[in-house]
Amino acid sequence: MIAGNWKMNLRFAEAVELVKTIAGGIEGLEGVDVLVAPPFTHLAQVRQALGTTKIFLAGQNMHSEMSGAYTGEISGTMIVSAGCSHVIIGHSERRQYFNETDATVNQRIVAAIRHKLVPVFCVGETEAQREADATFSVLDKQVTDGLQGIASEDLVDLVIAYEPVWAIGTGKTATSEQAQEVHQFLRGQLAKAYGAEFAQSVRILYGGSVKPANIAELMSMADVDGALVGGASLEAETFSQIVKF
Ligand code: PEP
Repeated sequence: MIAGNWKMNLRFAEAVELVKTIAGGIEGLEGVDVLVAPPFTHLAQVRQALGTTKIFLAGQNMHSEMSGAYTGEISGTMIVSAGCSHVIIGHSERRQYFNETDATVNQRIVAAIRHKLVPVFCVGETEAQREADATFSVLDKQVTDGLQGIASEDLVDLVIAYEPVWAIGTGKTATSEQAQEVHQFLRGQLAKAYGAEFAQSVRILYGGSVKPANIAELMSMADVDGALVGGASLEAETFSQIVKF
């Protein structure tokens, strides 16, 4: 799977144009699921522009409540009705700037499942945590707490995105060995909690300054099942090159 996170970018018409150009650029391509996550205001129009093309649509976040007095928030019901099949949950920018915690991430994953949305569950360590040799303990806690109380049968199609915070939007990509080491660790933790078969079925994406120049190397690793792409997903030709690597 190659997923594009458009973050808080693009006007309405630009978003529609981008997705149309991406769809044209990857037409007929088999063997890869492509996902785009536009800003909320553009979801329905992007869905419409996609027509019958097989690009999946994701929200960049969702609230855990279905509706109510939560000014400025968006519920799972809303993004489903806009045409989403997936939702990004726990992106490091949400954790860093909007006070999301492992507990709120867990509530959102539970809510996403209730809405039959596939969670793209983001985890990742900061630079300071990596330097303090805390990468594995941080990731273990994020995964354990994020999936707390959720049964494996409710996690069919689960996507995990490993995004080292120090690699997001910085131009610093983890080496393919660093990515593989963490992905293998994450799959091992999933195997311990849910069994080996389940762990194998989970797609673990790498995210952090993915570009056409580094995608092939990252994807050559056994446990790297795809990429979550930020900056490079905003330009149709660049994103298509990553999809087609
Ligand atoms: C992201 O925001 O998920 C991301 C990986 O961003 P970038 O590709 O720009 O580092």
